[in-house]
Amino acid sequence: MPKKESKDTELMDKVVRLARNRGFIFPGSEIYGGLQNSWDFGPLGAELKKNVKDLWWKMFVHERPDVVGIDANIIMNTRTWEASGHIDGFNDVLIECKDCHERYREDELDGGLKGTCEKCGTKAQFTSPASFNTMFKTNLGPIESDDNVVYLRPETAQAMFVDFPEIARVSRKKLPFGIAQIGKAFRNEITTGNFIFRLREFEQMEIEYFIEPPKTKENWEKYFNQWLKEIRRWLKAVGVDMERIKEVEIPKNERAHYSGRTVDIEFQYPFGQKELYGLAYRGDYDLNAHEKSSGENLKYRDLKTGKELMPHVIEPSMGVERTILAILLSAYTEEEVKTAKGDKEVRIVLKIPSIIAPYKVAILPLSDKPELRKIAEKIRIELGKEISVDYDATQSIGKRYRRQDEIGTPYCVTIDFESLEDKKVTVRDRDTMKQERVKIEELRDLLKTKLT
Ligand code: ATP
Repeated sequence: MPKKESKDTELMDKVVRLARNRGFIFPGSEIYGGLQNSWDFGPLGAELKKNVKDLWWKMFVHERPDVVGIDANIIMNTRTWEASGHIDGFNDVLIECKDCHERYREDELDGGLKGTCEKCGTKAQFTSPASFNTMFKTNLGPIESDDNVVYLRPETAQAMFVDFPEIARVSRKKLPFGIAQIGKAFRNEITTGNFIFRLREFEQMEIEYFIEPPKTKENWEKYFNQWLKEIRRWLKAVGVDMERIKEVEIPKNERAHYSGRTVDIEFQYPFGQKELYGLAYRGDYDLNAHEKSSGENLKYRDLKTGKELMPHVIEPSMGVERTILAILLSAYTEEEVKTAKGDKEVRIVLKIPSIIAPYKVAILPLSDKPELRKIAEKIRIELGKEISVDYDATQSIGKRYRRQDEIGTPYCVTIDFESLEDKKVTVRDRDTMKQERVKIEELRDLLKTKLT
């Protein structure tokens, strides 16, 4: 085990380094000394993040006739958070080491109050637990007063409940149907860290899947299990290593009182097995709570019979940044290869699925000579209309291939002097490194086939 642990720590360092050096993810506000584990996504990170979110939307909204998407406000009426229980109950419990003053979330420290400080090693010397609400508070309008306090949403879910009757009406969907949303969420976490694992500002991809009030356990379990399968399908599609995934059944005494079943989808991160996603059966708790608090009728009305009922909900909840971390850790690969001179060399390859790769194709003219550049430019413009392409005419071709391997570009297209004669280019595959000569006029169709 210790061997794996040290290998894993190394992996984490390597992934963080690659993310930084290649412009995927770097510390935010760095010129001012950073800001407590805030991270900015650079050019490649922004592409990767966008591709992940687009694929999620494609798989769960566009490809499903029973899910519609929304894009709601981050700041909602404060009564939302009273009704949902966040104002009273969205608390973390903080304890602090009396010796070195390191702070912990009580439930996250092994052994809690009786545990050992991970920083200085002092045993069971912690301050009494103090409870903190983790919602970010601000004021609506220029004057700070108690009656204009608002919160940045700590989850995207509540808008799907509050907007439920409106969406049911305009979408004319029949139960069961889902409402999906991708967007920012904010939590004033006691401790952040482990790169992009625990952040104060992050993005969620959530679905509230509304079903008829179930008559039997099987009635809701059927949908719950369907969503478990969907989550597995999604994880495979983005290239997460399924051997590192554990589905953990949360026992009754640890899950929310209204939840009939909760499964945490956990990932074996280098710093431990931790939550990646959550899947919960929430009953009719949320809609009931908002109906009671608002005094509005939030029931679903059957279009044919006119009968009203309060739907129950299955909620798959996924964090964007935790997904990206799991993807990077799964995709990072080192391979020993032989150089043209016969020397051994380590090749770093980010083996991410093409669909989420920041660039699908890199166009690499062998030299910067105008006649090659002309062909390369033309190809770049043509392909760039349909897919994201990189263009690189600097350094040796070997170095350029390595760079594209490291950022996960599935295909490189090389234009050489022969291309001027035979009107062909070389297409190189990231994973196999196999190269094939292809007619320029057939390039677009070939790449399209390869990329689907
Ligand atoms: P944790 O126990 O790790 O604090 P949670 O159980 O509070 O997580 P949920 O409320 O279920 O998390 O949120 C749904 C998803 O949002 C999580 O599965 C995770 O992917 C993501 N998420 C939650 N908190 C954070 C955070 N602070 N930073 C990044 N992602 C987060």
